[in-house]
Amino acid sequence: MKYKCVVCEKEYENSGRCSICGSVLEEVTENLKTPVLVAKDNPGIRRIEERCIKCGRCKFICQNQVGVKYDLLKAKEAVCLYCGQCVLNCPVASLTVNYSYKKISDYLNDTEKVMVAFTAPAVRVALGEEFGVEGNVEGKMVKALKELGFDYVLDTTFGADLTIMEEASELLERLKKKENLPQFTSCCPAWVRYLEIYHPNLINNLSTCKSPISMQGAIIKSYFSEMLEIPKENIVAVAITPCTSKKYEITLPNNRDTDFVVTTSELAMMIREKELDFANLEEAEFDSIMRRGSGGGVIFGNSGGVMEACIRNLYHLITGKDPDKNLLRFKEVRGYKNVKEATIKIEDYELNLLIIHGIVNIEDVLQKIENNEVHYDFIEVMNCPGGCVGGGGQPLGVVSKQQETAEKRIALLYEEDSDLKIRSCYQNQDIIDLYKSYLGEPLSKKSLELLHTKYVDRSDILGEEAP
Ligand code: SF4
Repeated sequence: MKYKCVVCEKEYENSGRCSICGSVLEEVTENLKTPVLVAKDNPGIRRIEERCIKCGRCKFICQNQVGVKYDLLKAKEAVCLYCGQCVLNCPVASLTVNYSYKKISDYLNDTEKVMVAFTAPAVRVALGEEFGVEGNVEGKMVKALKELGFDYVLDTTFGADLTIMEEASELLERLKKKENLPQFTSCCPAWVRYLEIYHPNLINNLSTCKSPISMQGAIIKSYFSEMLEIPKENIVAVAITPCTSKKYEITLPNNRDTDFVVTTSELAMMIREKELDFANLEEAEFDSIMRRGSGGGVIFGNSGGVMEACIRNLYHLITGKDPDKNLLRFKEVRGYKNVKEATIKIEDYELNLLIIHGIVNIEDVLQKIENNEVHYDFIEVMNCPGGCVGGGGQPLGVVSKQQETAEKRIALLYEEDSDLKIRSCYQNQDIIDLYKSYLGEPLSKKSLELLHTKYVDRSDILGEEAP
């Protein structure tokens, strides 16, 4: 029997781990060479059959990093979480993002339409890599979007702040009532879909909050549209994200306010097609309405960021005070480790926290939760390595340097957070104004209607033979 590392392609006589990269070795069988299943109507990714060299890396990543269970391949359809990690790891570009950017060009040329772009924090710390520009390229990115023809360019950190206003309030309600704990974060559509397929009995544990892009889409088509007196039918809302799975999220019935999702790598294509000299572009600022979020909104791009932002707000909700410097740099939840744990006491509440990236790492915990063998209060799960900074729609880089690249992006977002005056969502004046004049308060009837969603049992995708 032979074994192989599908990352380094080195062959071994015995099972174990690769001596070069440490990956678990795969038995060499015909099955190893099977590429991931990608249905023709996959909203996030595309497979170009002719390019495939059947190396099996995509399947290895899908199984061992993402956590899709290939032993249940009696499935009626391809079980894809649309995360695009296979795209980042395919050596021959047989797997690519399912591009949407060409469809947007028509709208950009339509004078009737008001084009609104909103950019996730992980985009500005990665886009420069496509053009040899180091660091956070926020100013150039905004300028590029304006040059491409967008009428408004907003920051999705605003949507992230809104998410935390709602999610921390929801967590406090659950803690008071002692129900549906642990609360799971819900901003990663790949994770939400995983839970709906493999553990539908736990969907009530998911926060009902929509993700930042879906909250921001809903607010653009309501509050923003009313304030600027632009009929919502004329607005085209385009989320610029590091994420291919968001292309799936916006097809779900409650999330239709965002019209398109364009990934970081697609935005780079748009910039090249327009022949913009990105490296030498001037800098521009986000538009002033719903301009930006707090530092807590910025760190959403990092694994542990949602947790940290939520704890900042929860602390304020419980104590009425601002978080101290330890909570503004919550060390235990930061860093690239796949699994991080922390406990925190806020007045009478003692919380057990868990932070995971790589869905495969949560599976044991889910089984223990189902058997009442562990107790956590709040769990953050992100599919991609390091969080959204490592999303499947980010620039393609050298596979062996993925961690190094993600860590650079992570550091840039923490740097931006610490440079900002406003570190928590409840201090953001634009958020305060939105609640005062439009939403009322977190979890109000209007907030629930616009900013929250429902989940469904999708286990039937696995077919009748699934356990
Ligand atoms: Fe998308 Fe972020 Fe989830 Fe990756 S971790 S699938 S980029 S939401």
